[in-house]
Amino acid sequence: MRALLFAFTLSLFVLLPWPALAQQSATGVQVRKPKLMVVPESMVNRSAAQQYVQMKEQAAARGRLNRDALAVARVRAIAAQLIPHGRRFNAEAGDWAWEVNVIDSPIVNAFCMPGGKIMVFRGIIESLQLTDDELAAVIGHEIAHALLQHGRARMSEAVLKNVGVNLAALYFGLGDLGATALAQAAQVAISLPYSRGHEIDADLVGIELSARAGYDPRAAASLWRKMAAAGGGQPPQFLSTHPGHANRIREIEANLPRVMPLYEKASAQ
Ligand SMILES: [Zn+2]
Repeated sequence: MRALLFAFTLSLFVLLPWPALAQQSATGVQVRKPKLMVVPESMVNRSAAQQYVQMKEQAAARGRLNRDALAVARVRAIAAQLIPHGRRFNAEAGDWAWEVNVIDSPIVNAFCMPGGKIMVFRGIIESLQLTDDELAAVIGHEIAHALLQHGRARMSEAVLKNVGVNLAALYFGLGDLGATALAQAAQVAISLPYSRGHEIDADLVGIELSARAGYDPRAAASLWRKMAAAGGGQPPQFLSTHPGHANRIREIEANLPRVMPLYEKASAQ
């Protein structure tokens, strides 16, 4: 009887579609489920928060943290519109201690660390002459990486590949060795390029966040065109962690019909 019940439960599990696949609707994008998350989310977020504090301290020591009040206000206003829609993709995101800061540097870069720690470098705004819609596309794409836990996936991958990291130390001996292991994994995860799959998913969730917040999701395509054009002499640092691929703009445009109704609805309000 028990075996039968087990078999029944198992068949239910196999037959039932994954939640993400179950919500087939005319609007909204579809993204893949994360796998092999061996590092707990709480550890990832804690480690990211520590790195973020260090980064802010270093920038502040050089007088480069939030120096341009207008840029800071602009970036924070756009992020504030996008963030509330993140809960659709990660239920925990509503409880994250979100932070948005701007580093005064010509580097063309931006990121959102696990747990909602956003950093925008002034270089990406200025050298690409970003409109508000394009800036929303950058921030939305970055927020999407955090919501979809791509940092956690990369840290898990780093741990599994044993890049100077010991999984047992991580779980059972969270002394110095565990902490060091985690910091190394975090470092590897932050500096490695995202996979093509992660990039596509971040693009798609990004355009949905933009659309729901009332920013034109078509700006994601113009953003990537600008980024590619800027890649001539010295490629933007942004492209080293967010590799461009030929199909990117096509995939964004193919998904616009799924989010344009959301944008039209948001703009009408
Ligand atoms: Zn990316």
